Amino acid sequence: MPAHILVVEDEPAIQELLALNLIQAGHQPLRALSVEHAMTLMREMIPDLILLDWMLPGMSGIDFARKLKTDEMYKNIPIIMLTARGEEADKVRGLDVGADDYVTKPFSPRELNARIKAVLRRRAPQVTDEPVEAGGLHLDPATHRVTGNGKFVELGPTEFKLLHYLMSNPERVHTRAQVLDKVWGDRVFVEDRTVDVHIRRLRLALTATGHEDLIQTVRGVGYRFSKQ
Ligand code: CA
Repeated sequence: MPAHILVVEDEPAIQELLALNLIQAGHQPLRALSVEHAMTLMREMIPDLILLDWMLPGMSGIDFARKLKTDEMYKNIPIIMLTARGEEADKVRGLDVGADDYVTKPFSPRELNARIKAVLRRRAPQVTDEPVEAGGLHLDPATHRVTGNGKFVELGPTEFKLLHYLMSNPERVHTRAQVLDKVWGDRVFVEDRTVDVHIRRLRLALTATGHEDLIQTVRGVGYRFSKQ
């Protein structure tokens, strides 16, 4: 699954460079020139990661990061701060408000990609190609295979993505809206009950290896992948 990465950068040339770099690394960039613009885009879609410039017109990147970290809806989005200022005090300030990492301009595309990869692996494993193990199931995004108890689980593409997301975020309750956003992606108009349909199919497929009980319904809230 490509990661949707929101680039908030007011210098068009740097933004272009960042976007091209992201596309080459297999990600899908979303581009904003200001915090205001970023907020408009985020109402349509929650990105998997934000590359956030420090110095922006209007609200600064650091104030935006602070604001996001206090917002229930957005506080879990990983943030990498971009800045032309290389001072240690700034770096500490950036990490203090909850940024996951910090890159100083001019940056090397290779270094930035490595940092993005590291942050995604830590914070959003479902958008990377890393295999996931949970509850006795093994899921490998590279080969698109799921195994459990020495058998293959046959899954359609949506059920695979759904299981990948749930296994990458175990023991947490996910609302249908969160599942839709993360599994179906942006700007898709599907109804909440579509999630229920695919959960049913996923459970049915998991009966082949006896793992159907790992997908739990949390009444009135959503779903959880749990070993208990
Ligand atoms: Ca700037």
